[in-house]
Parts: sequence; C-alpha cells; structure tokens
Amino acid sequence: MSLFSAVAMAPRDPILGLNEQFNADTNPAKVNLGVGVYYDENGKLPLLRCVAEAEAGMQAAPKARGYLPIDGIAAYDKAVQGLVFGADSDILKAGRVATVQAIGGTGGLKIGADFLQKLNPAAKVLISDPSWENHRALFTNAGFTVDAYPYYDAENRGINFAGMLAALNAAPARTVVVLHACCHNPTGYDLTAAQWEQVVAAVKARGLVAFLDMAYQGFGEGIAEDGAVIQQFLAAGLDFFVSTSFSKSFSLYGERVGALSVVCASADETAKVLSQLKIVIRTNYSNPPTHGAQVVATVLGTPALRSMWEEELAGMRVRIKAMRGALVAALKAAGVTADLEFVTRQKGMFSYSGLNAAQMQRLRSEFGIYGVDSGRICVAALNEKNLPAVAAAMAAVMR
Ligand code: PMP
Repeated sequence: MSLFSAVAMAPRDPILGLNEQFNADTNPAKVNLGVGVYYDENGKLPLLRCVAEAEAGMQAAPKARGYLPIDGIAAYDKAVQGLVFGADSDILKAGRVATVQAIGGTGGLKIGADFLQKLNPAAKVLISDPSWENHRALFTNAGFTVDAYPYYDAENRGINFAGMLAALNAAPARTVVVLHACCHNPTGYDLTAAQWEQVVAAVKARGLVAFLDMAYQGFGEGIAEDGAVIQQFLAAGLDFFVSTSFSKSFSLYGERVGALSVVCASADETAKVLSQLKIVIRTNYSNPPTHGAQVVATVLGTPALRSMWEEELAGMRVRIKAMRGALVAALKAAGVTADLEFVTRQKGMFSYSGLNAAQMQRLRSEFGIYGVDSGRICVAALNEKNLPAVAAAMAAVMR
C-alpha cells in the first residue's frame, strides 16, 4: 500500500482533450472552434498594440520587483473599479466597493467563493444551466452545494427566462446566484435590460447574493453597455460581488489578470470586508504577481493607450459580429433553410450552434472541424479563410 494507492484518476478536462485530438489530426484543412480564446483575422492570438506599447515603456525604465500589497496594485484596483462601476459613480465616491487584484477572473471567483463560504457556510450556490464548466467545480471545491437554475432553451433557441425566474424566486435567502454579466459562456444568449430588472427584483425580494461574473466586458456591445447590468444592481441598493477578467479584453490570457469587487452597505463595512478578502489571499498565495496588472494599469491610466485599447477592443468585437453574420449568410448560401438568425442575436465569443453531439462528432471526424459536443463553437476563431470550409461542413451535417 503506497500513500497514493487509493487516489483515483481525475476525469480529463474535455476541452483540453479536444485540443489534443485537434493537434494530432493530420487533416490540413482542420479548424479548432473548441477554444475559448479570441483569434484575429489571420487565426493568430493577438498581442494588442496598447499592451506592447505599455510593455515597451516599462522595459525602458525597468523596476525592481518587490512584493505587491496583498490586494494588489492600488492604481490597478482603482482602474478596475472605474471600468466596472463608472469612474464618477457615487458608489466609488462613498468608498463602498472593496476591490482586490486577482489571478485572472478565476482567481476573483475563488477569492469571493472562499470569503462567502466563511460568511455563510450553509448557503447554496446556483449557476446557470449550462454554465462555464469551472463554475460548478470552483464553488464545490470551496465547500458549497451547487445547483443550477434553468437558462438555455434549446427548443426556442434562447433563454428559458420564466424557468430562471421561478428558480430564483424559490431559492432560500442568502443563496449565492452566479450570473454572467454579459456574453454568456457557453450559449451566447444574454438577458435583456427588462429581464435583468426582474432578476434584480427577485434577488432583492428573496435576499439572494448576486455574484456577477464579468469575463467579457467590451466583447458584447461595448464597455459601458456590457457593464449596464452593474448599474441596475447598484440602483436597487444591493450588496453584490463582481469578478473581472482581462484575459480576453486585453488578450493577456497567460498573465492571469483579474479582480474581485464587493459592493458593501457602508465605507465601514467595506474596510472590514477588504480585511477579510486579504486574509483569503494571504493564506492562498500571499500576494499577486506584478507584470500583467502593471500593464493593464498603465494602459487604463494613460489616455493615449486607453483610447488605443478601446479601439482594439472594438475591433475584436466588430470582427466577431461580422463573423456571426458571415456564418449565417454562408450557411444560407449552402442551402440551409432553417432560421439561423439566432447566431447573430448571440453575444461574445461563443455560439450555441444548435448542432447536436452526433453532428459535432461528424464535423470532427469527416471535416476536421473541432467544436464542443454541446454544440458550442468559438465564433472568435472564425476568419475569412476558414469560414467557407466551416460553413460547408456545418451545412453538410445539418442536411
Ligand atoms: N468566467 C467565465 C464565464 C469564463 O468564460 C472564463 C474564461 N473562459 C473565466 C471566468 C475565467 O477567466 P480567466 O481566464 O481570466 O481566469
């Protein structure tokens, strides 16, 4: 008997498995739409010009790398608050938001989950059905029981909003509700402002705890537009959590740049909450890394670089939308008669294409087009060169 003889093999990450299969495929026309990253029109991961310029400035005046404060770079936290809540917002003036730098959006979710678990260990967590696959695992590993609220409506190619609302209205007080602030992963379907208003009302009436995951701010309709839901929660006078990720919006995936913001009832409560978030951080990894957050703080805090970023972000957003439209047009041209307009209604990098697992498997085996068995494809991995082949293959399996 060795120490590890009872250790079971954990299941493989399904997306990583798909990537391995893709890499091993010898089909020269293969296309990987299983990924969760934005590729540019040449099929390459972009290095944003604003990032390169900020880094060039940093390299020209190299600095020693001391420890950061536990909650990260102050200018970075402030810039995050400005993006999420609006730089001139009353809530920031009142000192009612505790923000900490985090190791990506995942890190922001985990700090929030650990803090909530100490605060309210018996609370349940509700995530959308379906959701980003790490939500369930992350909150389960933080000690919570995780259930799902209805979200995707396959039959109507949209959101089962009545089901979602009923689930929220049946949830006990203090239930943590994880909500995708914009660009829902994996479906691409977002709530309307009127639907959000009803969600906010349910959260308030039932005494639920909203945890908004904002991993794609700027990828849907714009920075302020995608953050509009935050204003709706603020207007209702609620306390809530927001995780931020800059992985996609700055194309800084590997630098692990994110944050957690907690809206509190008073400046006094904010100071206490911040002190507890710092304990979570301190006991996990002590303090965050410097480089990525310094880049983001520099870009957001330098007017010329900031406008460059906003333009580059808009460029990514517009290209994704163009690919949605082009995919629908190409499928129609290939003879698909089904109404596919839902693809252009979806927001962000992903599309629930409506294809079933058997069709997705045919796409892989016959055409070298790789997507997730749920039917999720990454629209941000489409470009003018691979689109004709993707559309022809999709049309073939839809026949
Ligand atoms: N939340 C959602 C909804 C996501 O899609 C992702 C990343 N794909 C994350 C959080 C995590 O972001 P990060 O890579 O910055 O940890």
